[in-house]
Amino acid sequence: AADKEKTSSVAKIKVVVRKRPLNKKELAKNEEDIIDTHSNALTVHETKLKVDLTEYVEKHEFVFDAVLNEEVSNDEVYRETVEPIVPIIFQRTKATCFAYGQTGSGKTYTMKPLPLKASRDILRLMHHTYRNQGFQLFVSFFEIYGGKVFDLLNDRKKLCMREDGKQQVCIVGLQEYRVSDVETIKDLIEKGSGTRITGTTGANEESSRSHAILQLAIKRSADGSESKPPRVVGKLSFIDLAGSERGADTTDNDKQTRMEGAEINKSLLALKECIRALDNDQGHIPFRGSKLTEVLRDSFVGDSRTVMISCISPSSGSCEHTLNTLRYADRVK
Ligand code: ADP
Ligand code: MG
Repeated sequence: AADKEKTSSVAKIKVVVRKRPLNKKELAKNEEDIIDTHSNALTVHETKLKVDLTEYVEKHEFVFDAVLNEEVSNDEVYRETVEPIVPIIFQRTKATCFAYGQTGSGKTYTMKPLPLKASRDILRLMHHTYRNQGFQLFVSFFEIYGGKVFDLLNDRKKLCMREDGKQQVCIVGLQEYRVSDVETIKDLIEKGSGTRITGTTGANEESSRSHAILQLAIKRSADGSESKPPRVVGKLSFIDLAGSERGADTTDNDKQTRMEGAEINKSLLALKECIRALDNDQGHIPFRGSKLTEVLRDSFVGDSRTVMISCISPSSGSCEHTLNTLRYADRVK
């Protein structure tokens, strides 16, 4: 019962917005910061034109569970989002933390440090609070690109998904590393991040079309010893989603780009629908909408937690994308 209380005190769904600072390019173009933040709310100042071509400003107000402004550090982001979830992973909870937003809004900057900070805390709990109880930590890291799964810890090997008799989806042959120290995890994160798809047009260009998924799984043998194969107790997934603007690439001249755009659009819509279904405690969760949600299926059933970090650029030039991101987050909330 104490465990139950511990898990239920953490919100089932949390939606957080992170605003990054204006970057050099935006400053050079004299772009303005159009986002005001005030505690857990923010205002977007959109400049519009009247029919007589005079400008006016339309204000859009949004309220979220938390709004993190440009002064907030990655440490504080961790404390606000993932830290409260770590202890309940030991109580059979599955949790997922997403970074959503247009390319260049700060998803990777926000997401990359989180698994390392979380594993540091997980290992600390394993070595102290849960000492000698047979818990083990495993790391896997893969990418979904064009609806296909690639192992980032195994030379981007293309993998297949299979559903077992218990309707569990598994990725066949996905490399999972057992880790017991922070250094090893750090190396694996670096290795995986470096393996993300990069095209001739530049790293960000191509990686913006893929979802990167890093999973930390806590396992334990039935009797707490290491003689039997361990089973998953809890899981924490970190998802650096494809650039949200890519979902609109459905009218591009290039067929490949169009197909990828359609796939991204489908997965971001399916994700929103799944989170909303979770929130309403609907029995039916529409996993099958996309590869992304199918892969995450086991994290959406049972006692699950979801944290959505919506990343936004402060610049006037990104206003439309920013409003789209905030509206998406608002629907998930
Ligand atoms: P995305 O993954 O959404 O395409 P990135 O995380 O790559 O975007 O961020 C784009 C650029 O902005 C990077 O150079 C990154 O270092 C910088 N950046 C993003 N967020 C912040 C922040 N909160 N503070 C400082 N720099 C940031
Ligand atoms: Mg990125």
